[in-house]
Amino acid sequence: MVMVGNYGVGKSCLVRRYIENSYRPTESSTIGTAFHETLFFPKQPPAPPGQIADPLFPIKVQLWDTAGAERYRALAPMYLRGAEVIALVYDDTTESRDNLPSLMKMIHENAPTAVVGLMMNKCDLIQNVPHSNVEQLMPDYNFQVSAQTGEGVHTSFNRLLSAAVVMREEHVAPTESIHLDSPMYGGQSTNPTQRTEKRYQCC
Ligand code: GDP
Ligand code: MG
Repeated sequence: MVMVGNYGVGKSCLVRRYIENSYRPTESSTIGTAFHETLFFPKQPPAPPGQIADPLFPIKVQLWDTAGAERYRALAPMYLRGAEVIALVYDDTTESRDNLPSLMKMIHENAPTAVVGLMMNKCDLIQNVPHSNVEQLMPDYNFQVSAQTGEGVHTSFNRLLSAAVVMREEHVAPTESIHLDSPMYGGQSTNPTQRTEKRYQCC
């Protein structure tokens, strides 16, 4: 999983909230890219009638928290390539919203099969957020989150990771029909058509 977005939108705070469930308002700025690992426990799909569900298995998540500063921007494609999940983070500043189309383009160019979620962070500061240019970007998922209060953070990360797990399963057993919108996998997609078109390439 890779975090991208402008400097200061709260990527590192979101990662800390997800991994440690804590918040540091004075998070030091990321130099280059920070790497974290955590375990994710996906929910199992229901077993077919008469069969026993597979046991729960944890998945090791490698999380790359990229630096948003312009001077590190050239590094981002390297991390995006091969990413299965990408969180594109912005906040209510004009700069961070204006930069979304170019970041989304970079994501599509470097990680066309990744599950992409837009996270509008710092929602604790804003009421009734207008989504103006954001809807046109057509991400797989759209979330409002707050690293400070924790609102939406675990739900959004878990939903993106669950979708990636489903993508992997489709890759292994492409004829198996697994519905991403099942509550088992975290519920509704904002754009199911787009998401079901994506498939991992074989080898
Ligand atoms: P990054 O450059 O995207 O990694 O941004 P950081 O995670 O370093 O966050 C930058 C600053 O934004 C933090 O030091 C906090 O002061 C602030 N911040 C981050 N998340 C939130 C949030 O959810 N709500 C509010 N009000 N401030 C936040
Ligand atoms: Mg950072």
